[in-house]
Amino acid sequence: MAEYIITTVGGDSIGEGGAYNSGKKFIGLELDILGETLNFRIGIGKDRARLADIVPLARTVCAGITDIVVERTRNDGARIPCSKGCSPCCSRYLVPLSVPEALRFKEDISMLSAHRQESIWRSCLLSARLILSQKPPKPFMRKAEEVSPASPVDLNLVSNWYMSLKLRCPFLYNHLCSIYDQRPLACREHFVTGSVRACRGQRGFAEVVEMPVQMPNVLGQLASELEGTPAEAVILPLALVWCEENPERAERTWPTSTMVERFVEIVKTMACRNLPTVAARRKAIIGLSKKRRAASQLCQSLSG
Ligand code: SF4
Repeated sequence: MAEYIITTVGGDSIGEGGAYNSGKKFIGLELDILGETLNFRIGIGKDRARLADIVPLARTVCAGITDIVVERTRNDGARIPCSKGCSPCCSRYLVPLSVPEALRFKEDISMLSAHRQESIWRSCLLSARLILSQKPPKPFMRKAEEVSPASPVDLNLVSNWYMSLKLRCPFLYNHLCSIYDQRPLACREHFVTGSVRACRGQRGFAEVVEMPVQMPNVLGQLASELEGTPAEAVILPLALVWCEENPERAERTWPTSTMVERFVEIVKTMACRNLPTVAARRKAIIGLSKKRRAASQLCQSLSG
């Protein structure tokens, strides 16, 4: 029997079975992730929802997908060194947020203690000052100008620019993420195979594990379609300031079922579109790590 991950949009969290009896509307999402079926039952809470309300659903779907991809990659013999306290990637580059994530980030932060809020604002403002003293490279600006709602911006462009700034994430303290529960989707789906030394910029090999669905791009496209704007990415340390400057965008609402249905369609389309590429790349990575392991075993047996 199919297992369902149950979640809701625009209402309180629901437990298994509870909301089935309440007569609420549910929308299904079935995904084929590397040959494994992932099922979601998405409850429609309030009639209308804001962009920030879709983020918990995106996090749930993201967790379901990454769990399968990481487990399958490990089972196939590739080494994923990512674990709690491993933070070279957080030290090397910052991450972009889609608009719904930026709005949600501000809400999540406002739930924390006054002391935590103050420290997060301080970190953001310090980093923002550094970022604003830099100029995005011309190719990035040109690409951004070409963007239309029909061809959303690839958030990887923003990531690459970030990386070129060589700034560490302002939320990294003692090698740990200080906003772990609120961390961006890009952080949640970032895993590599290979050696952590390569992540530190030292010798070695590390390859990013490609996810069949990149959730920041899903939310970028969804927000762009609903708002009728080009897809935008907000730099994490600038997110709080950006939200203060765009209060009306936090308050706009759409029918919850319309928002969820479109979210489901975008996720499914991306999953189908990326299926062959991800499978091929994954095969190549697994093949490469098997060859590396075989070569290392050969070296050990020769030296022994
Ligand atoms: S938000 Fe957290 S996980 Fe993401 S880059 Fe910053 S410290 Fe790392």
